[in-house]
Formats: sequence, C-alpha cells, structure tokens
Amino acid sequence: MARGSKAFPSAGSGARGRGDGPVVASRKGASFGPPITIRCDCAEVGYVAYGEVWTCTSCGRRWNTRQIPEADYRRIIDHLRWFKVQAIGGVGSIVVVFGSLALVVADRMILLMPFAMVLWGLWFLPRRRRSFRDIARTQATWNLRPE
Ligand SMILES: [Zn+2]
Repeated sequence: MARGSKAFPSAGSGARGRGDGPVVASRKGASFGPPITIRCDCAEVGYVAYGEVWTCTSCGRRWNTRQIPEADYRRIIDHLRWFKVQAIGGVGSIVVVFGSLALVVADRMILLMPFAMVLWGLWFLPRRRRSFRDIARTQATWNLRPE
C-alpha cells in the first residue's frame, strides 16, 4: 500500500502554511468558531459563541466572552481550521492522486480510491481530531470575571 500512503504527505505540504485560504473560515460575522463553554461559579454551565455575553440561568451572573483575548481564541480557531483544511485537503488529494494514477498508470488504480478514503476517514482523521481536542483542552481555558 505504498501508493495509498502517498496521499498523506501531499495533503500536508499542500495545505501547510496555516494561513487563510478560501476555507471554511467565515460562517457568520462576529460569532465564529466553536461555542465556548462557560462554567459559572455556581457550577452552572453555558455554551455561547465568542463575543457574546452569557447570563447564568441559575444565579444571574453575566459572563462576557470578550474577556478572552481575541488572539488566543483565534489561535484555537486556526487549529480547528487547519484540521478542516487537512480533512478536506486529504480527500481532495486522494481524488487527485488516484485520479492521475488511473490516467497515467492504469484504470484499475481508481478502484483503490475508496480504500484510501476509508483509511483517511478511519485512521488519520480520528488521530487529528484527538490531537486537536488535546490542544483545545490544554490551551483553551480562560478565567473570566463576572460582570
Ligand atoms: Zn451561576
């Protein structure tokens, strides 16, 4: 399966640079990225988009997610975006690699594509997702002050 594994490095180097391409960045204006979990002093938990204020439903404290430095939040978003770039780029590379193999080498090569997709979806993506979760857990914790 040496051919199959070829898709991975090309996926990585192609999309590296973690700059912003025309990727899944903007969904809707100010609130971008995954929701932020807020754990209130009273142990109530809320989920709110970055930039929004959450008012605790049980004690009424107000938590402003703007207290999180935007640069910090963006760094997490970048990780997430990078993960998506790899996920999508990987699928794209698989199509390109096996598409050209089918053209250049033999039609049958196209039959390997589903296997590469499965390998990608079952092996690579879960690993990436786990490492992203580790990053989110260790770096994406802030202490807010109630307003
Ligand atoms: Zn509360």
